[in-house]
Amino acid sequence: MSSDNNATNLRLISSNGGGPQRNAPLDALGFVQTVTATLDLDAVIERINEHLAEHLGHSGWIFTSDQGENWQGGATDRHRIEYALRYNGTDLGSLALMRGRRFDDQEQALVESVLGLAAPALHNAWRFRRLRANLERDELTGLGNRRAFEVQGQQWLSDCLRQDRSLSLLTVDLDHFKQLNDRFGHTVGDEILREVASALRDSTRQSDLCVRMGGEEFLVLLPGADLRAGMECAERIRQAIARIRVAARAEEGAPVASDGVATITASVGVSSLGRHTTLQSLYQKADEALYAAKASGRDRVLAGH
Ligand code: GH3
Ligand code: MG
Ligand code: MG
Repeated sequence: MSSDNNATNLRLISSNGGGPQRNAPLDALGFVQTVTATLDLDAVIERINEHLAEHLGHSGWIFTSDQGENWQGGATDRHRIEYALRYNGTDLGSLALMRGRRFDDQEQALVESVLGLAAPALHNAWRFRRLRANLERDELTGLGNRRAFEVQGQQWLSDCLRQDRSLSLLTVDLDHFKQLNDRFGHTVGDEILREVASALRDSTRQSDLCVRMGGEEFLVLLPGADLRAGMECAERIRQAIARIRVAARAEEGAPVASDGVATITASVGVSSLGRHTTLQSLYQKADEALYAAKASGRDRVLAGH
């Protein structure tokens, strides 16, 4: 069964359907009102799924975005149908539904109508999510920005305090970066900043948050890491940054023109969660340690007390 040509742009990817016919009335208007009442993608997906569950009684579902992110619920089961979701030429991802019984033709048609009705809401929520993600991203490096730190940091801080879990914060500031810019020019400086961002990503877990706060100052937030784990990560980062090499041809107009290989070091301050810590005090403690690291010679890691 395929619906490539219908107006909703839904395409059935796979199905092991067949089975008994069932009739299920669809409250189209009510449903559209429900899904368009929010721009929150999680909520839209949840409402689509709830609505489908009323008619199909499926046991599990997986929504996969075109970026490969997954949302899922319930339990996987033997029979599965999967739809590619497209709206006005935009790929929105796919939805898989699972249950112990087969999905019959009528049920598949129902899924198509429901997803067709939901497609504009899904599309809007998806765009809103991208927009918000861009607001929290640093353009030069692709890392999070100050806003990401404030939003995510606040969330993780209260989670960790509530669950009595550790949380560490690293402040990373490049050493004598102004001299590097002066010597090689801003393009090389920018390339170094991007390499530092990769070093941060490579030295941390995917579940950690790496942020460029501005200029040549970065933050890393490590949920679950106590001071010792935070120090270890900081040391890994320090070493990874010291290994960065960028081939540099001095830009014309650079204050001191010079070819060569640009290298950089960083100083790192580390702080960890105490019982009465706020995001601000966590940052302050790491920043004080960072400045102590600068004062005592740079290219080193110090813990805040
Ligand atoms: P310190 O070791 O004390 O941290 O010295 P520093 O030179 O790194 O610190 P300072 O704060 O004096 O200078 C930071 C420099 O970072 C100034 C500016 O030229 C450079 N910078 C800030 N933002 C950018 C950027 O986006 N791209 C480039 N290439 N350079 C930047
Ligand atoms: Mg600096
Ligand atoms: Mg600085």
